[in-house]
Amino acid sequence: MRMGLISGHGAGDSGAVGCGYEEANETVRVVRMLAEKFEACGIEVVTYPYERNAFKDCNRGLGLQADFSGCNYAIEVHFNSGRNNESGDDDIGGTEIYVTPREETTNTEQIILRNMEALGFRNRGVRSENFLAINKVKSLGVSSALLELCFIDDADDMHLYEENFDAIGNTIVSAVCEGFGVGYTEDTDEAENTEEGEHMTNEEKNWYINCTFIELLGRPADDGGLENYRNQIPDDAAWDDNLTAYVDDNIKQSDEYAQYQQKEYIRKVYLAELGREPDAVGMETYMCYGRYRDIYRDIHMSDEAKARRGE
Ligand SMILES: [Zn+2]
Repeated sequence: MRMGLISGHGAGDSGAVGCGYEEANETVRVVRMLAEKFEACGIEVVTYPYERNAFKDCNRGLGLQADFSGCNYAIEVHFNSGRNNESGDDDIGGTEIYVTPREETTNTEQIILRNMEALGFRNRGVRSENFLAINKVKSLGVSSALLELCFIDDADDMHLYEENFDAIGNTIVSAVCEGFGVGYTEDTDEAENTEEGEHMTNEEKNWYINCTFIELLGRPADDGGLENYRNQIPDDAAWDDNLTAYVDDNIKQSDEYAQYQQKEYIRKVYLAELGREPDAVGMETYMCYGRYRDIYRDIHMSDEAKARRGE
């Protein structure tokens, strides 16, 4: 898939302003983030030159100064204005998307709006309007949309925008992937941490603890165990550090570990000497033994074992 991205305004045109923001700066910021996230999904990205203004270029008859032919989809990013609510009143303006009247379906745009809604941005719907740049893109046979991400002059919108900046990128890219049937790969800090051996997330710590529990105790950790061992692992521990001192070594000190190991040992001797799983009475008997070699001796010397060997 190939994706076109246009940052609205620029080249001397600040666009709308509000809450200390200039639209032209924010559209570049959003497009840079989206480009990175689309590329993380293996999607080729064509960005309109950040120092140019697509509307001006088209309006002056220069035409689009980026080659969007061969793209499957293009988004022009803007910020809405007109709410003039810089003090904030907990009422979110929200997101709207424009497509040209020539667009036959708006499936992808609906998914973007639903995803943005999940982050708290009111769904203002898909509207039809022949905006200049998206119209030029559509004339290349490329589906195009103009995204009014949220209201630059509404403090509630811009607060939500800053708080969710990365999530907004993820949700837009995953919506486009869903709309175009392309596999989505989240470009998160978490994924980078795993790759680069940086700090473990709580989820990664749980994973390590459960894995060790099953290996040493034959069961996953309960909630208390997870929390306890998570607290033992240092905050700056990395996935590929040696974590045995924090988890494995402690588990090995426990009675449960000693008993589980003895049970497993009894099982192995039964399977080797008698060719069967231990019964409850046998298990109870041999669990009382203090030394593994005594367990082996008594099972090896039992009538059942002798009969099996033909003695
Ligand atoms: Zn604009």
